[in-house]
Amino acid sequence: MATILVVGGAGYIGAHVCKALAARGDTPVVFDNLSAGHEHAVKWGPLVRGDIRSPDDLDKAFEAHAPDAVMHFAANIEVGEGQRFPLRFWENNVSGVVTLLGAMERAGMKPLVFSSTCAVYGEPEIVPITELESCKPVSVYGQTKRSVEQLLDNVALVDGVRYAALRYFNAAGASPDGEIGEEHDPETHLIPNALKAAAGIGGQMKLFGTDYGTRDGTCIRDYVHVMDLADAHLAALDKLLAGERKLIANLGTGHGASVLEVLQAVEKVTGLKPPYDVHPRRPGDAPILSADISYAREMLGFDPKRSDIEQIIEDAWRFHKVAWKL
Ligand code: UDP
Repeated sequence: MATILVVGGAGYIGAHVCKALAARGDTPVVFDNLSAGHEHAVKWGPLVRGDIRSPDDLDKAFEAHAPDAVMHFAANIEVGEGQRFPLRFWENNVSGVVTLLGAMERAGMKPLVFSSTCAVYGEPEIVPITELESCKPVSVYGQTKRSVEQLLDNVALVDGVRYAALRYFNAAGASPDGEIGEEHDPETHLIPNALKAAAGIGGQMKLFGTDYGTRDGTCIRDYVHVMDLADAHLAALDKLLAGERKLIANLGTGHGASVLEVLQAVEKVTGLKPPYDVHPRRPGDAPILSADISYAREMLGFDPKRSDIEQIIEDAWRFHKVAWKL
């Protein structure tokens, strides 16, 4: 049994990882300033309210809980916001990790699992994307995440921090028991927005672009169930605790669904047709992104068994029906 400091553990992916940690007997200590996360999603261990940019807040958390490892989720994630407010992203996503690593250094370096993203690749030439693809992020968000990967590489050489950078494709779905799920404000992601439209909340969904060179003209993304992501985090953590020095792994499924296919799946699962308006392309959207997950399969035993698109939507719908009081 281990104590894990889960930075940003009140957020979407962090909370699901906390649930998975607790289910196997580990103690997740959530460190979160609740700027985007939710207090009601902290259910499996103590909550330390603190800011990742504050060395003092972090030192106190390390002193009080003496974690065996750290998982880091706290970051600004909305791509459009990053383009408008780059300083905010560099401050939280990069400076925040510098401050976190400083606190880890003072407390004694522990293994670190870091939330990275397929946005580090930008618009790749070849899909499915392997980890060997060159990283040419096209958004501020992707640049900040890639910068942290490089920062970790530098620090690992000198301070010996053992780390995993997990490059998520499109995290989606919810805990199958409906206990926790995706609650962003504002919500920009496709599946919750399509479910909202189907439920008659907030009017038509905006569909960004029908003129891509894909099978139906809409963007293709690799949707991966948040509980499958949680399993991969536990596997990465175990590898690091067992002595692995560095892991960089894509987490997706290896295949993808188009926006129109997601809308069809939403209709099939809910029995409700999501109304939508066609809008121009959203800046920075690549036509197709999907992961080659051979490395994660081999290194982490990764098996995205809940990531069928209808299963994802079914679990998300179960959560949202309660959250939206339908
Ligand atoms: N999308 C859309 N309408 C929305 C949200 C997303 O048409 O309200 C499209 C978006 O342009 C992209 C895909 O759905 O092609 C997935 O977008 P999302 O924001 O969920 O994830 P991303 O791939 O940007 O991380």
